[in-house]
Amino acid sequence: MSRLVVVSNRVAAVKQSRPGSEGGLAVAVRAALRERGGIWFGWSGKVLDSDYGQPTLTEAGKITYATVDLTQRDYDEYYVGFSNSTLWPLFHYRLDLAEFAQRTWGGYQRVNALFAHRLQPLLRDSDTVWIHDYHFMLLAENLRSANCRQKIGFFLHIPWPALEVLLALPMHRQIVKALCAFDLLGFQTEDDLFCFHDYIRREAGGEVGADGIVKAFGRSLRAQAFPIGVDTEVFAKMAAESEGSKQVTRLDESLGKRDLIIGVDRLDYSKGLIKRVEAFEHLLTAYPDNRGKVVFLQINPPSRSDVADYVDIRRELEATAGHVNGTFAEYDWVPIRYLNKSFSRRVLAGFFRAARVGLVTPLRDGMNLVAKEFVAAQSAKDPGVLVLSRFAGAARELDGALIVNPYDVEGVAERLQEALNMPLAARQERWHSMYKAIAVNDVTAWREAFLTALQQATPPR
Ligand code: UDP
Repeated sequence: MSRLVVVSNRVAAVKQSRPGSEGGLAVAVRAALRERGGIWFGWSGKVLDSDYGQPTLTEAGKITYATVDLTQRDYDEYYVGFSNSTLWPLFHYRLDLAEFAQRTWGGYQRVNALFAHRLQPLLRDSDTVWIHDYHFMLLAENLRSANCRQKIGFFLHIPWPALEVLLALPMHRQIVKALCAFDLLGFQTEDDLFCFHDYIRREAGGEVGADGIVKAFGRSLRAQAFPIGVDTEVFAKMAAESEGSKQVTRLDESLGKRDLIIGVDRLDYSKGLIKRVEAFEHLLTAYPDNRGKVVFLQINPPSRSDVADYVDIRRELEATAGHVNGTFAEYDWVPIRYLNKSFSRRVLAGFFRAARVGLVTPLRDGMNLVAKEFVAAQSAKDPGVLVLSRFAGAARELDGALIVNPYDVEGVAERLQEALNMPLAARQERWHSMYKAIAVNDVTAWREAFLTALQQATPPR
């Protein structure tokens, strides 16, 4: 088996903490690297005033962790700018928030070229290279220009937008052409793949074969959907172990006999948080029996606070949640517990298991791992119900969820009411079918499927 080289914006810590404490993706990537030996390459997370140094290399068993620092200018243009103020909003259908500037596009091109330049001397001819996410869509093209002939695969963790949305990106053609320098492109869902095919056929004048082979820009490559999974078994075990833990006991005691609805999301405008709070408000208005009997716990670790839109969403969310609490709270009951901080996955697993309803309503999401973790955490004896946006990639697999349109505030409130009142047998039936899906397609199956397909991809001639 060839050596594996993984590239992602951030690299997991060299020292692994206890099982379950790091996300499923980090676990899966580390396991693959440990099996095959290889390199994990990415940004160190450090921003320097002046010039870059060479990559910092740290050996740990068969894995070399290689990290590169960024200058302030690169951080502003490549990371805050093009990645998180152009690509992220546009690929999540927020054209109103997407900024287009030659300056940040220049930074994105420069950092992709820099990463290729730093990575190339570390590569062996026989290596297999797996590049992750929207930060590095130009990397294979840069590596090919430096004569790298390895098999290079790319997995996009976020949605691939519909043609009409993508066409608003001034440099759409350069980006898709650069993507065609990979040997394998992986998307989260068949819908994303369909949208990519649509671009190839209608905009690039390329072809899509019945075998999944795409021919465009003078190259031939494979494109396929690989829906990412979670570490189902580990997460389920953590959730079961958490019963009786300090945090879960405190939560249980604070709830008394009230039902818990839980939402857990990075504080991001793609997660549909304002509409979600409005839907909960509508639940209390349209079904007043729930007043005093239901608590909505919304956990929102802050993220990307140097992008202005993330500061705005926080302010708006605090105002909306404050308004609902101001309207409905009683001296012995506050309807929304809004927490602007993060929790360990172990604690989250326990909270999910304690909840009657998991409320996951992104306006657009590549997959949404929280939805799958919520399912993994439930007890078979008394499972909670998942209320899930049709615009999360996870909705394709989680057929036992109550699927909602997150823009339809009244519709979400109705499904919440249904979830809160669902009889045990129906909850069990729905949960069983979802658990089966996430147990079969867990994160290990996902990475094996991707790497097997990459192995079979034809190397460039
Ligand atoms: N998460 C966490 N602590 C928190 C909130 C979230 O560890 O306080 C984890 C969560 O368990 C999940 C991941 O962060 O594994 C979020 O992944 P998801 O796909 O749902 O959303 P993303 O943040 O990648 O858009």
